[in-house]
Amino acid sequence: MLLFGPRISPQDQRPAKHAPVLINGRRVKAVDVHAHIYVPEVAEMFQGTPLEHPAAGGGAIDRDKYLSSERIRKMDEMGVDVQALSVNTFWYSLDRDKATRLIDLQNRRVAEMIQAANPERFVGFASVALQFPELAAQQLEEGMKRFGFRGAAIGPTCGAEELSSPKFDPFWAKAEELQALIFVHPQDSAKATGITARVGGNGDLDNVIGNPLETTIFLSHMIFEGTLDRFPNLKICAAHAGGYLPSYPGRMDWGCYVTPERCQKPIKKKPSEYLKQIYFDSLVFTPEGLRHLAAEVGASQIGLGTDYPFPWSEAPVDLVMQTPELSDADREAILGGTMCKLLKIPS
Ligand SMILES: [Zn+2]
Repeated sequence: MLLFGPRISPQDQRPAKHAPVLINGRRVKAVDVHAHIYVPEVAEMFQGTPLEHPAAGGGAIDRDKYLSSERIRKMDEMGVDVQALSVNTFWYSLDRDKATRLIDLQNRRVAEMIQAANPERFVGFASVALQFPELAAQQLEEGMKRFGFRGAAIGPTCGAEELSSPKFDPFWAKAEELQALIFVHPQDSAKATGITARVGGNGDLDNVIGNPLETTIFLSHMIFEGTLDRFPNLKICAAHAGGYLPSYPGRMDWGCYVTPERCQKPIKKKPSEYLKQIYFDSLVFTPEGLRHLAAEVGASQIGLGTDYPFPWSEAPVDLVMQTPELSDADREAILGGTMCKLLKIPS
């Protein structure tokens, strides 16, 4: 039984179409940077293999996995003008040949699905084989130049490797060169964070704790290993509002003061300052959560995120409009101003 439901504008009370999103009487384009898509042919490719479930989009609601008219109707209901689509990663264990074939098919089909549905309502992130960083850099470039993708969607780890390892620098260098937006989203997070043995039982803890924790660990390594110093113009957008990191950034500033012997690698800024060079989605559920996120990272660093077709956020525009501490400029940036610039969407 569901004990707690959405706190803002439950779906069954909303009209079929959201009122136009206006700030000071001016129409603002609302852009959802966190929405998923799956490719049916890829699901077929992995049928009967251990990757069958993630290739098919895990538990995503069947009719909304693809770019159906139902999806556009739901976007209208939420007031979302454009979704930036990503496929959740599951392919980092594949060999080079299989990974190449998967990425070629997936990127081509996602681009075709966007064109067939409505390229004014959807933009895409490329999939890349991050286990081969040079290949991933090529796939990113090809995805942007050939298919019009605005960046790439990646997981926060690659097998057992942290993405702050210099091994991945060729990918980060290409992303910075192309000014690609790199959307980072958890994958198999309980395993990736090592908490599998502790998150069984009631409450879906591998998701509700594991997903934010995986992103938190990723961002922390990118800060403390100096990756964000090496690539200061890299555009990273962290899913689920960056996990726990923006809720508790003061601790990473104090850590090196308390135990300097464990902070031998110099970085250029105070650790929490790096949050202001990262982007985050708005998936924090409450006006107080959004107020705090904006206070820590800056409203200019936040874009709407729904996790569609997973029902984690059903009124993303209303959350922004109902957060009293945000200024009009803050609201405009979060609703779509920042993501229009990063994703090169005409505003
Ligand atoms: Zn998601």
